[in-house]
Amino acid sequence: MSTPENQPDVAVTEEQFREALAEVQHNIAAAAARVDRDPAEIRLLPVSKTVPEARLRAAYAAGVTQFGENKVQEAEAKAQAMADLDAHWAIIGPLQSNKTREVAEFAHEFQALDRLRIARRLDTHLKELGRTLEVYVQVNVSGEEAKSGLHPNEVEDFLEELREFDALHLKGLMTMAVHTDDEQLIRQNFAILRELRDELRKRRPELIGEGGLSMGMTNDYQLAIEEGATVVRVGTAIFGARDYSK
Ligand SMILES: *Cc1c(COP(=O)(O)O)cnc(C)c1O
Repeated sequence: MSTPENQPDVAVTEEQFREALAEVQHNIAAAAARVDRDPAEIRLLPVSKTVPEARLRAAYAAGVTQFGENKVQEAEAKAQAMADLDAHWAIIGPLQSNKTREVAEFAHEFQALDRLRIARRLDTHLKELGRTLEVYVQVNVSGEEAKSGLHPNEVEDFLEELREFDALHLKGLMTMAVHTDDEQLIRQNFAILRELRDELRKRRPELIGEGGLSMGMTNDYQLAIEEGATVVRVGTAIFGARDYSK
């Protein structure tokens, strides 16, 4: 009996992680093929929030070397506990200014940048530490008040101001689509980010860096790829349903 992809069993063993990863990679390739894209240009960022160390180690053994986390303390504890592994740590959730020091110390990537104050603090700490950080600027494409991110109209000015912070390496834009079953609406959300990137590439190529697009999660990564995603952030389809009880 097969399990629906949005409610997979919880993966525990290396073998289970291999299977889950193979299925997601297969879906990524299929989505890319539908729009004549090369699947090699799409990066899978597994999202491991709430998943404990033992299971992350099994996932690592199965080939997961990047971990997306949305809480700094949790991510830092895992990065320290797994310092023996060659893992890449990505913070994908909003950051408070009192957590910028920690992020500068251990993270490789921050995907939810939408405040200059945070950018400035990160840049200062990174320079003190002799480190750099890959960043994605978060954009609110759905217009929902509860979502973080800049309004699309604010992005150009923000990118302009970011140029001063040279310890931050801009990789592109990140977004989350509205949570809905309406595929057309989800596609429209992703298209807003792609069109914004394309427009900036045309008019202000010096601002947009590689112009990556981090968009798509378990429920919508295949649509996101069809709409141009270069990074998909997938948690549940790899690790299984999250346990928030602990
Ligand atoms: C949790 C999370 C994801 C992954 O969600 P799934 O639905 O489990 O794939 C992706 N992006 C962000 C910003 C998240 O917080």
